[in-house]
Amino acid sequence: MKSRAVRSKAFSWPPNLADYVLYAAWHLACLSVIWVGVSWKAVAICAASYFLRMFGLIAGHHRYFSHRSYTLSRPMQFLMAFLGTTSAQRGLLWWVASHRYHHLHSDTDDDVHSPVLRSVLYAHSGWFLDPLQRATKVDQVPDLAKYPELVWISDWSWIPVTVYGLAIFALFGLQGFVWGFVVSTILVWHGIHALSSFAHTPGGFRRYPTADYSRNKWFLSLVTLGEGWHNNHHYYPASARHGFFWWEIDLAFYGLKALSWVGMAGDLKMPPPHVLRGEMPGFQRRVKRYERDLADVRRRIGAFLDATPGTDALKQRIEERLDAFIAAPRAVFIQVPDVRIRAHRELRREVLAAASLLLRTLGKQELARVLKMLGREIDQLMKSPPFAEILGALPPTDRPAPLTANLVLTTEGART
Ligand SMILES: [Zn+2]
Ligand SMILES: [Zn+2]
Repeated sequence: MKSRAVRSKAFSWPPNLADYVLYAAWHLACLSVIWVGVSWKAVAICAASYFLRMFGLIAGHHRYFSHRSYTLSRPMQFLMAFLGTTSAQRGLLWWVASHRYHHLHSDTDDDVHSPVLRSVLYAHSGWFLDPLQRATKVDQVPDLAKYPELVWISDWSWIPVTVYGLAIFALFGLQGFVWGFVVSTILVWHGIHALSSFAHTPGGFRRYPTADYSRNKWFLSLVTLGEGWHNNHHYYPASARHGFFWWEIDLAFYGLKALSWVGMAGDLKMPPPHVLRGEMPGFQRRVKRYERDLADVRRRIGAFLDATPGTDALKQRIEERLDAFIAAPRAVFIQVPDVRIRAHRELRREVLAAASLLLRTLGKQELARVLKMLGREIDQLMKSPPFAEILGALPPTDRPAPLTANLVLTTEGART
């Protein structure tokens, strides 16, 4: 009797059970294509509905409401909010607040959907269904909350979804409804969620020095109307254009350009030349500082080893390694955080390996003195911009321990 009471107390329905049921039911509803069949017309309706509503999310929810990258009249603003909301991605304010939070805390513990710190599945749709992410971070959206119509459409987000579904049914019948509403909504969900799960995972390329894991991926851009140029976007989120160069296809931007020609959108913000070159204010200074730190470390190690007989080979090896870093300091900033840390770890490993060559030529005390100096200098580089700017965001277990902590092991077996 008692154990049953304990068991029944331990069980409770998840607070967002309705979300899970709706999510699963909508997927299952796609199976109704078995009964309604398929036709070219149905596939065309599905594709058109996908691109139309993806445009509402990408050009509206993301580029307009989240980043204010162009202007709309107030009626057009409402229409855009309506169109984006037909995709059943919850309320506008919730969506924008979650997205702004992602930019504020990209790939750190506070990021709502980082595939680096959580699983790819969680970043894809787990976060969307997570009860902990259910509340709207209202402090992120004061600029939108002052429009009563935007608050209304956020609170009653099921109304645009229902109106859209009924309109599709009225226009295209049951087969058109299944393909143009049920199936295309699922495709929109997974298209937009693929940005959370795959735009920060390996593959594609990075052009710009951001402190996160964002990447540019052409295929993702094709299915998300240009959003796959995600490293561009994290580098300069204010731009209405995410494909920064003509060969980076950006369908949402072409749509916005067309709207601007007919006066329905205005003031499309573009990336200025220094942004295209990857030279945000302060970047050159950070690169110079890193170059100077590397040169200082090289000079101090050189002077120390010059004064320590029997260390010529070690000095040459360390200088060669540091010269490689000095030759490409910008590249280190473009690497994702764990690759930057790995590069530094390799440098440390190489220094230790080189020093171990001296086991037989230096006395134990002398070797300890050399290693202590090298450890201090290599550790010093971690305070330089490309490392210092990412270390704070790393979980403590991922931060490299000071090199000086490893020295005792290395001196074991030295000549005494
Ligand atoms: Zn991102
Ligand atoms: Zn964004």
